[in-house]
Amino acid sequence: MRSYVVKQFGQEIEPVDAPDLQPSGTEVVIKVTRCGVCHSDIHLQDGFYELGGDKRLTLGPRGGIFPPLVLGHEVLGRLVAKGPDAPIADGELGKQFLIFPWIGCGQCDSCKRGEEQNCNKPAAIGVNKPGGYADQCLVPHPKYLIDFGNLDPAFAATLACSGLTAYGALKKIQCDREHDWLLILGAGGVGLSAVSLAKAIGFKNIAVADIDPAKRALAEGAGAALSVDPRDPAAVAGFQKTTKGVAGAIDFVGASSTADFGIAALRRGGTFVGVGLMGGETVISTVLLVLRNICIRASYVGSLEDLKELVALARSGKVSPLPMELAPMADVKSALARLRQGQVKGRLVLVGE
Ligand SMILES: [Zn+2]
Ligand SMILES: [Zn+2]
Repeated sequence: MRSYVVKQFGQEIEPVDAPDLQPSGTEVVIKVTRCGVCHSDIHLQDGFYELGGDKRLTLGPRGGIFPPLVLGHEVLGRLVAKGPDAPIADGELGKQFLIFPWIGCGQCDSCKRGEEQNCNKPAAIGVNKPGGYADQCLVPHPKYLIDFGNLDPAFAATLACSGLTAYGALKKIQCDREHDWLLILGAGGVGLSAVSLAKAIGFKNIAVADIDPAKRALAEGAGAALSVDPRDPAAVAGFQKTTKGVAGAIDFVGASSTADFGIAALRRGGTFVGVGLMGGETVISTVLLVLRNICIRASYVGSLEDLKELVALARSGKVSPLPMELAPMADVKSALARLRQGQVKGRLVLVGE
């Protein structure tokens, strides 16, 4: 098998050949046919996150993320081998599945509650464990394999992170979806997924804030009723007049400016959800927090059940796929470089042989 490996933080990805994977116990082996390229792969390749205020979070053994890394957590492929204890029904060998990547230790209280994404000893595929930038991928148990039906496999792959991140964040906004306003900050790949998903689950009034006019146009095409350039005072005034304060704001960027804009845009009792990892910080008045009765929280990917719900929603035909670009798996290095330079509109998916 061939893997595309980050041998040291900050270095380019290199191909490495090794013997085929041999599953043991309940493990299964997936021959990768699609793998989405996610913006967080850039942070994982660099080895740090910018925290804002010139501070950095450095990745390493303490956090369970260290090279050599095989990135790629939006993995989909054909089930080709199973360990002796893997419960696989007849006819499932050879079928294609989507992988739930946000796997935990399986033992702790979070994992037992089905919130493996909150595990303190994560074993996430493409983050802590080898991922989908490879011919083959090892999954610890077939319970993490999801049947995606007749969905386009490239679209289905993007549900594992970009889709799930958007869906998980939307589930945290409690409001009247018929009348209240929802604000999406940042209309990149995940923000666009959120617009389409929000429509699918009944949000009627969706506003989008982005500085890029091309991305605002894509968001309106995906169903946003209103889009605003947060740097344009006249546009912001119009946005405030129309929405009279939003019930929910989801920040898919995570810069200081986007968080400030989103928190300021809330109506009383509204909820701000932080998702993006660009790096920023903000100061909040403890008094205004109370007087405005607002909720400020975050959302990190989602659970296995969330992903199953999302796949079912997509299979019902309610979610329109994003603009997508395909590239051969062997081009992963240039794919990441293009994402880093902001040249990808929508979502980039690698195709395995
Ligand atoms: Zn991701
Ligand atoms: Zn755990």
